[in-house]
Amino acid sequence: MARITQLLDAGPTLSFEFSAPRDEAGAERLSQTLARLSRHQPHFMSVTYGAGGTTRGPTRDWVRTIRDEFRVEAMPHLTCVAHTQDEIAEIISDYESDGIENILALRGDLPQDAESPTQAFETAAELTQFIRERADWDIAVAAHPEGHPMAASVEADLKHQAAKLAQADFALTQFGYRAHCYEQFVNQLDARGVKTPVIPGIMPPTNVAGIERMSALNATEFPIEIRERLAQASTSAERREIGVEVAVNLGRELLELGAPGLHIYTMNFSRAASEVASALGWPAD
Ligand code: FAD
Repeated sequence: MARITQLLDAGPTLSFEFSAPRDEAGAERLSQTLARLSRHQPHFMSVTYGAGGTTRGPTRDWVRTIRDEFRVEAMPHLTCVAHTQDEIAEIISDYESDGIENILALRGDLPQDAESPTQAFETAAELTQFIRERADWDIAVAAHPEGHPMAASVEADLKHQAAKLAQADFALTQFGYRAHCYEQFVNQLDARGVKTPVIPGIMPPTNVAGIERMSALNATEFPIEIRERLAQASTSAERREIGVEVAVNLGRELLELGAPGLHIYTMNFSRAASEVASALGWPAD
């Protein structure tokens, strides 16, 4: 179908992220969400991959569904933390036979109760190199503009991220709510000579508890002024309205800063993501 770098060359991209569900109810919901969000004609959709055995989910099946049924470019995520080299080689070969052209290479995090990892690859950068030697794909990596929570220091983290992004074709960021953090991160990469396109991730803040939990895990700021506004809302409709407004304003700011696209974290729900996409100039057909 298409390489994402070519889509980025043509102007800001719209993309949505989904997680591969592991039960029938989740699969049904995701099918409905894909049907609704594909009407915005996004440039691509991505599907997560759990790092540990039971959290993996059928990423490959959903990537095929998105491409074949919804005619949207689909990018699988691939984590390496609990895989052997042979397993990764086999996954790459499966995706090659599926005609995949883009992949997001990640280290991943093991669930806390997971058995000790095989550790064939220690970092996403090593996985990127391994894929590069085997497949002629666009390879994306994760970016953490506010720093990775397990980083030894701000400087070590930035150095690692710059080296990783220099090897990649583009990057997708962790979700965040401060456009200036994205701007500062891109400037810091630029100062290190790294020009890899960095697509910022946006999560409409509609589920306060969920975002508080994820922000704490990712070491991403969930600004107090947004939390206070959401706390004052008394219905889920009001919270969605605020969450959409916050995401739209952030998206506008990021595009004005020159972001090459926007990547919307959907949590497999369509409504807020659809409203954000429409307000930012990508209406449904
Ligand atoms: P890496 O870049 O390998 O390392 C993360 C951090 O470790 C670095 O930023 C740095 O601080 C430190 N580090 C690593 N190596 C070095 C070094 N040599 N020197 C100094 N510091 C170093 N997780 C999933 O399980 N499944 C998914 O599908 C998934 N999708 C994601 C999508 C996006 C867009 C993002 C942003 C994250 C996603 N994650 C996913 C989460 C991700 O797996 C975690 O954030 C994980 O902890 C780090 O992965 P990484 O690929 O950034 O790792």
